[in-house]
Amino acid sequence: MTRTDIRVEQTQHSRLADVDFDNLVFGKVLSDHMLVADYHDGVWGDVSIVPYGNISISPSMSALHYGQSIFEGIKAYKFEDGTVSIFRPDKNWERFNKSATRLQMPEVPQEIFIDGLKQLLSIDQNWVPNKNGSSLYIRPFMFATEAALGVHPSISYKFIIITGPVGAYYSKPISLKVETEYTRAADGGVGFSKNAGNYALALYPTELAHKQGYDQVMWTDAREHKYIEEAGTANLIFRIGDTIITPHGDTILHGVTRRTIIELADAWGLKTEQRKVSVDELIQGIESGQVSEAFAAGTAATITHISRIGFNGRDYELPAVETREFSLKVLDYLNDLRYGRIEDSFGWNFVV
Ligand SMILES: *Cc1c(COP(=O)(O)O)cnc(C)c1O
Repeated sequence: MTRTDIRVEQTQHSRLADVDFDNLVFGKVLSDHMLVADYHDGVWGDVSIVPYGNISISPSMSALHYGQSIFEGIKAYKFEDGTVSIFRPDKNWERFNKSATRLQMPEVPQEIFIDGLKQLLSIDQNWVPNKNGSSLYIRPFMFATEAALGVHPSISYKFIIITGPVGAYYSKPISLKVETEYTRAADGGVGFSKNAGNYALALYPTELAHKQGYDQVMWTDAREHKYIEEAGTANLIFRIGDTIITPHGDTILHGVTRRTIIELADAWGLKTEQRKVSVDELIQGIESGQVSEAFAAGTAATITHISRIGFNGRDYELPAVETREFSLKVLDYLNDLRYGRIEDSFGWNFVV
């Protein structure tokens, strides 16, 4: 699909031939083109696809001072026959606009977010790796551009989509520290939105967890630090007894991967629950052997197994990864689906 009103300026200097597709570092290699759209005073104006490159900003640009800045993370895959397919971008588009509304920013129309993305990928389709496990990471983002130091919603915004190839993400099992001092999100706050500030506030507590020997923090609720929320940039899913359980509410980011996994579990006839999960329930379940699987779910790695959880100075070990039937099955299924090896009966693949 092409939008005739998107201006396209093709690069004269493709960097593709210089890319070492066998040694990709996440987020370091960016594709030749980017989509840029400008909003001013109530209207989306110029939309263009241009060579990836620096942009010029004002030092008084309001996003830098007051944080109106949101983003998304999506992946596209290449089938064996060369078809390029984006995984559930409609869900990211919906979530992006929810983030925008909460941050008093304009919504981005489907013609720019989805159709524009498809056009961008058709131009940069050779950047989508075709090796199993590899994919093209897609980063749409929007920020306030008004040059003004007053605290008020910006009158102008920039929406940009950049993309870059990423290699197979063989994520090692991770250890999590139950965080009982610092808080990521409170009721009525912005925990459900993918806004830049949510990641800045996590860096310091995460560094403390690293120093104590853990990979990530496991956030708990702001009020009592009793209920589990999520991990750094991924949602948490547990198998307790025969039920697939994931924390719920507006203090967590509603991940597309989390949603996909719950929908799969439902379709496979498993019992699922989206509800509060207390740290006590988890710890007791680990001790009694009821917790057979625990993993983080997100676009970057799909599933990252959790091997160890630290709480109140004690470590709790989870069962061996090889025994984790459900999460291993999910991973195989989603790999087959996203590379077009099985029928897409859910309608999750958006073919470019
Ligand atoms: C992006 C993100 C997730 C995962 O969402 P997906 O849509 O599955 O990638 C979970 N938690 C946080 C805080 C995130 O930023």
